[in-house]
Amino acid sequence: MQPFAYARPETLAETVALLERHGSDVRLLAGGTDLVINLRDRKVRPTIVVDVKRVPELAPGITARGDGSLVFGATTTMTEIAAHPVVRRDLAALAEAAAVVGSVQIRNRATLAGNLCNASPAADTAPALLIHGATVVATGPTGDRRIPLDEFFVRSGVTTLVPGELVRAIEIPAPASRIASAHQRRTRRRGHDLASVTVACGVRAGGPVSIAYGSVGPRPLLRIDPSGVLADPATPDDVRAAVFESIFADASPSATSMRAGPDYRLAMLRVLGRRALETALARLTSGEGLP
Ligand SMILES: Cc1cc2nc3c(=O)[nH]c(=O)nc-3n(C[C@H](O)[C@H](O)[C@H](O)COP(=O)(O)OP(=O)(O)OC[C@H]3O[C@@H](n4cnc5c(N)ncnc54)[C@H](O)[C@@H]3O)c2cc1C
Repeated sequence: MQPFAYARPETLAETVALLERHGSDVRLLAGGTDLVINLRDRKVRPTIVVDVKRVPELAPGITARGDGSLVFGATTTMTEIAAHPVVRRDLAALAEAAAVVGSVQIRNRATLAGNLCNASPAADTAPALLIHGATVVATGPTGDRRIPLDEFFVRSGVTTLVPGELVRAIEIPAPASRIASAHQRRTRRRGHDLASVTVACGVRAGGPVSIAYGSVGPRPLLRIDPSGVLADPATPDDVRAAVFESIFADASPSATSMRAGPDYRLAMLRVLGRRALETALARLTSGEGLP
């Protein structure tokens, strides 16, 4: 590990000033579950690491607003998300995704903003947040900027944050009607591994279906089928299969990944997509989320 300076600011303004002053030489530290490994492996070589855990504006917490929207503080951990009653009831896919990140120890440290800012194509919370229409609240020298999550990811390790910006919060809007959702993923058999395929599905009464998927290309993708075909139990299998094919048409798994070959990933994407849809439809019918 290359030596670096360490700062622990106590205000958002101080944090933004550090980002401005040090430009591309600075890295933020939240839970550290990605950053520390990248520092150790010298994949990143900052001259200064800025620990954001004492910044009150980034504090962990999930707030339900009066209008039905939800706000996640940047340093909210996977453990908090997976256990939160409103998330379990209304954003089942997100609670399920948070609950499978790493191990108990990782989930106690890993933050939601860290998962998004690391911008791994395999980030498990990304598909769930995409189907629920999440927005990233970025703060920089000129104030706040709201970025729809689908416009946040570029490729592995790269987001549309600009120099001087950090993620302050993640917002989920109140849906016009209930979205029932589910998350599915596949990992290699042993160990706490990143997903070979990670998928979330959201269904609304009346049939629009959103499916988001990751680990099968350079960034997570969101696809929406407004037709109602996928949600209709009377749809013939061949018609449903054709819609699925168009939804998954842009999957482009790496041919050189150590986790799984492209054929396997593409096959699993279809299996897990169907399972996520079935589970989301069952939740829509029952009116329930996770217990
Ligand atoms: C053993 C192990 C298992 C794992 N399993 C999974 C898994 O199953 N699924 C999964 O999705 N991930 C997994 N991960 C990856 C990791 O735990 C998650 O990505 C985690 O959510 C990262 O959050 P963090 O707070 O630890 O981020 P950090 O490591 O602190 O930061 C990650 C990156 O985001 C930047 N960053 C952090 N906060 C902000 C902010 N507010 N604004 C701007 N930039 C910021 C940092 O500078 C850094 O570049 C695993 C990691 C390990 C070590």
